[in-house]
Amino acid sequence: MDFVAAGAAHAVWRFRSPPPLMGCVLRVSRHGGDDASASTFVANVLTPLLGCQFVRPPLATLRLPAQVLNELREASASISPETAASLTTAAMAALESGGGVNGGGENGGGDGDSGLATLDVDHATLRLSSSDGAAAAAEPVATPVLCVELKPKAGVLPAGPPLVTAHPGCSRYCLHVRSKRHQQLPADYCPLDFFSAEPLRLRRALSALLRLGPALNNLRLFSRDGSQVYGAGHGTHAALSRELRRELLQPTEGAAVDVEEEAAMGEADAEALLVEVLAAIFEQEPLLPRLSAAHALDQKGAASAAAACARAQELLGSEAALAARIADWGSSSSDAMPGSPELNGCIEELRRWLIALTASDVSLLIALRRLDVDGDVPQLPQPQPASGLAPGVVRVRGGEVVVAYRVAVVDVQPKAVSKARAHADLDERIAAMPPLRSSCLERGREVGEVRGAAHD
Ligand SMILES: [Zn+2]
Repeated sequence: MDFVAAGAAHAVWRFRSPPPLMGCVLRVSRHGGDDASASTFVANVLTPLLGCQFVRPPLATLRLPAQVLNELREASASISPETAASLTTAAMAALESGGGVNGGGENGGGDGDSGLATLDVDHATLRLSSSDGAAAAAEPVATPVLCVELKPKAGVLPAGPPLVTAHPGCSRYCLHVRSKRHQQLPADYCPLDFFSAEPLRLRRALSALLRLGPALNNLRLFSRDGSQVYGAGHGTHAALSRELRRELLQPTEGAAVDVEEEAAMGEADAEALLVEVLAAIFEQEPLLPRLSAAHALDQKGAASAAAACARAQELLGSEAALAARIADWGSSSSDAMPGSPELNGCIEELRRWLIALTASDVSLLIALRRLDVDGDVPQLPQPQPASGLAPGVVRVRGGEVVVAYRVAVVDVQPKAVSKARAHADLDERIAAMPPLRSSCLERGREVGEVRGAAHD
């Protein structure tokens, strides 16, 4: 088993064998925490909003001894062969039994001697059917592929004062980036472009993310061996270009490199091809409009949410009581909950604000593999299916480049309601900045005018 990544919340381990576990990762919460509320939120709130083809529930939940959990949480590169072997056995049993809690949990949960880990789909793999006849009939094996991680942020304008009044037409992301960069020019990436549903603006946003990769935290690129090649403080354009040439110009394993084609393809062209592929994927999938609709659930902004949070705490008597009430993502309607109309109104507003906040902080993982188009079977463009894990397909450059892909939404845990005050305070500081030279909306219109002129 290989260590993949540690976020603030989880450590992630990837299985390399046996075949049923290839394409699976083991996620271990760093702190324990209230994972039951988080999984209810994902299942009852986020999955219906975004679509079950993009948000995957865990394949299985494993109960592991505390000693093993601690080893997984704290190790940074590898674990002992004995631990790896026992985890493989437990994971196989969990998969075979259909996903319930498994693995030595007979003596009861929550006794402090054991804890939960989840077995999840490895989003950096694709289930590719083999093109040769005999193997094609078999179950597709998960294959590690190139993986792009995007953090697009909120695709809507701020919902309330002070930002709407101080900086009309500006996204919170662009204002925030500029505030951190001590009044320098805003970064070229604008989430309003990314979510605009306008082809030129989507491509401009993707180009900006690629160009600014190492400087921002919004894009990372992982090679098929799982190592990070580019983005978020790492890598160079030369390394990015080398990786993209290898992945997008040589579809067939072991095929001779077309030297001329490779030489003709400069750095800029390798990036341009990735932009075309990603744009084609996002234009084919229904994800971006669903995500920006989730961002738009916040209709009043952080200042109003902070006031609602303070009032609800007062009505319920404590911060803990409010957190518990909010954490009940199982109740679909606040009408069924006890409490005054005023309290229910506050809870409703806070829930909408939290959903929008979580949706604006998700990451999108896009696993990619160029397909060989010389085979007999024509690969037609198709979105990724809602059931199963079969890839979608896009064709770009007149059908010359055919790419299999799968998009997943991750980092979907709900935010804490106690963050409302901090967000409102940050909005106050951003509102006090001098205005941007041009607003996000004005810059978006410029792209439209360039396009209009080109058609004249
Ligand atoms: Zn912007």
